[in-house]
Amino acid sequence: MPFGNTHNKLKMNYSSEQEYPDLSKHNNHMAKVLTPEMYANLRDKETPSGFTLDDVIQTGVDNPGHPFIMTVGCVAGDEETYEVFKDLMDPVIEDRHGGYKPSDKHKTDLNADNLQGGDDLDPNYVLSSRVRTGRSIRGFCLPPHCSRGERRAIENLSIESLDSLDGDLKGKYYALKNMTDEEQQQLIDDHFLFDKPVSPLLLASGMARDWPDGRGIWSAVIFRSSDLLRHIRAVSPHHLSISLWQIESLFKDRGHEFMWNEHLGYVLTCPSNLGTGLRAGVHVKLPNVSKHEKFGEILKKLRLQKRGTGGVDTAAVGGVFDISNADRLGFSEVELVQMVVDGVNLLVDMEKRLEGGDSIDDLMPEQK
Ligand code: ADP
Ligand code: MG
Repeated sequence: MPFGNTHNKLKMNYSSEQEYPDLSKHNNHMAKVLTPEMYANLRDKETPSGFTLDDVIQTGVDNPGHPFIMTVGCVAGDEETYEVFKDLMDPVIEDRHGGYKPSDKHKTDLNADNLQGGDDLDPNYVLSSRVRTGRSIRGFCLPPHCSRGERRAIENLSIESLDSLDGDLKGKYYALKNMTDEEQQQLIDDHFLFDKPVSPLLLASGMARDWPDGRGIWSAVIFRSSDLLRHIRAVSPHHLSISLWQIESLFKDRGHEFMWNEHLGYVLTCPSNLGTGLRAGVHVKLPNVSKHEKFGEILKKLRLQKRGTGGVDTAAVGGVFDISNADRLGFSEVELVQMVVDGVNLLVDMEKRLEGGDSIDDLMPEQK
């Protein structure tokens, strides 16, 4: 699996047809959209930092598909990627985000006061909840293309900014390279730390280069799993929105803003995460609903997505699912979290009905 970018100026000695990737066995958004003509038009373009079309598509060339989700098959190497390669990126975004058009505008709403409910999820069914998002810092390349120096500069900037947080948010930075294998594994098992970059999707995108240099976790908790779990439960959408505003202003104070624009919202490496970058999910017990013939249809109508509890590469075991918002772009943060709160409450109601042997026909939702 290639670890690096594919810069190679000698490839211009070959025609576009000779360079065109074999996508015959592929099923990802990039492979659906890319044509030989598009490839010919874009293959000698590059962004100001030097990201090329082949860099954009490499992960989708090396990874034809995924057993559980429709992958995107391309990445951005910097903020300009979405502009320079818009002929490819726009239709991928439209395809991935339910018809989101190049002229559409995204709304951001991080005010958790606009959220209704959420503290009332039934603990007999909902085992844990999590909200994650991502941010990119303007002026630096994104992970598939950043240099070691850039990555370390971002690490230092983050440490400096986060160090100035106070109160509830006061914490400490743990560099991955300074952790023992046991400490890392404990954090992974507790669903707290991103896994080692073993996924071929990550490897082929170039995001795993130089691992673990410049990577770490900033946390307000210590390495004891019981504390960690308590902390995970305590992180509500309200906490998240406060932290995000504070962190954004800390970066701004140091002359760095987040990548954001009216059309794409927050700009991230993977086109699937544009907009909010937000995945609000709960681990929830649904042994009966998940066996119902309409389970897939119900999730689709509620605009929700299912995964296994070990992450995107896992299938559900024992009827426990990770249920989260399916969309990222075109809906605000508050709207997405609201869909999860309302949808999960409905799924739990359905589960209770089915447990008692009753029908759920009258609980069927409308398309959101
Ligand atoms: P993402 O890309 O959103 O981070 P993954 O599906 O790859 O999603 O999951 C990453 C990690 O986060 C996994 O270890 C997973 O178990 C954990 N995780 C996701 N949702 C929850 C949740 N509601 N409660 C606890 N852990 C979670
Ligand atoms: Mg992921």
